[in-house]
Amino acid sequence: MSHSTLQELTESVHGLSPAPDHLASCKDCRDLEGRLRAELDLLRRADARLEPPAPRRRLSGLLPLAMAAAALLGVIALILRPGSSPAPGARAQQGKVDVNKTIDRFLDGNEEDSAQARRLLTELGPGALGPLINARAHHPASIRPDALAALVLELKEKRAGEAGVAIFRRLKTFRLTLDIQNSPMSAVADY
Ligand SMILES: [Zn+2]
Repeated sequence: MSHSTLQELTESVHGLSPAPDHLASCKDCRDLEGRLRAELDLLRRADARLEPPAPRRRLSGLLPLAMAAAALLGVIALILRPGSSPAPGARAQQGKVDVNKTIDRFLDGNEEDSAQARRLLTELGPGALGPLINARAHHPASIRPDALAALVLELKEKRAGEAGVAIFRRLKTFRLTLDIQNSPMSAVADY
């Protein structure tokens, strides 16, 4: 009885032909078949490593975020543009309204007080932006953290004016496509 040929064993390992009957009675050929099978496994594992990992979900998830970040940079450029408006807070602090107390009411007051304070702050417009942004540091435990972010975004939009309309429209659209742990776009903008 002759040993199985390498071709017969290879075809058997690859499932192209049934295992030769000879294997049952020959340890040498069984050992050789075992080595061929091990090599094949090795090749398959190497293949698996070379193939790109399934769908690239993370990358596609990051793409809209990158676009949103680019849009935000555009907004910031508009907001920081020198000229037209006085420095944030300057106009507000000259008025009768105590901006910081109004912000306190907006953040920590009851619903009615908060709503009224919000109207006041909105009337102050971009002038309330500085104190509002400062308030973030002083009100880490506010019962309305989202409200602050939302108002800041609204006032920034006002300040950006006509030139910012397109950018803010894009930002709000991103709110629908972004899914950063369900945080609202205003929180992302705030960040
Ligand atoms: Zn043999």
